[in-house]
Amino acid sequence: MEIVFATHNLNKLEEIKAALPLGFVLRSLTDIGCTEDIPETGDTLAENAAIKANHVTQTYGLNCFSDDTGLLINALHGAPGVYSARYAGPQKNAEDNMAKVLMELEEASDRSAYFQTVIHLNWQGEAHSFVGEVHGKIIHEKRGDGGFGYDPIFVPEGYEKTFAELPLSIKNQISHRGKAFQKLMAFLKSS
Ligand code: IMP
Repeated sequence: MEIVFATHNLNKLEEIKAALPLGFVLRSLTDIGCTEDIPETGDTLAENAAIKANHVTQTYGLNCFSDDTGLLINALHGAPGVYSARYAGPQKNAEDNMAKVLMELEEASDRSAYFQTVIHLNWQGEAHSFVGEVHGKIIHEKRGDGGFGYDPIFVPEGYEKTFAELPLSIKNQISHRGKAFQKLMAFLKSS
């Protein structure tokens, strides 16, 4: 059974390929000849995930899933949220984004935050969504060299280390994306 992952991110693609149930063939946007930029114009993670998957299903008539992730900080009323990639500007620079968050939280006593991933799946004519979250806190300065995005300033609940300090194998087990994809895999296995 063929399924498209609406992403150009080869790392994500390889990770998911390795976890797919037997009998599934995963294809990327490049594989299906979808080179156009799909604008992420939604106001929520769920809307953006749906826009990408729906574009593929409607244009190419294929089963497809896509994901969208954000960091939601409680003292900032859920920001950066859907704007996580471009919080400090269109250059989408992780260092600038983290600097902006740390500055905005300078006076905050509540530093709780969570990552959320929403996956939208179009499967045999029906839409499904899967959500994964990891809760934790934003620390005062960056720590660690691993990961990407906001990883150096996020410590998940139950741990002392940031996502950028923890081994990737642990991050993948407990992360927002890990949990959402585990739910997707369980669904595909049972269908
Ligand atoms: P995307 O939807 O996976 O492209 O994620 C959007 C943005 O959220 C990224 O550009 C990062 O800034 C942030 N982000 C997503 N996942 C993670 C993560 O696992 N760690 C840190 N930041 C993340």
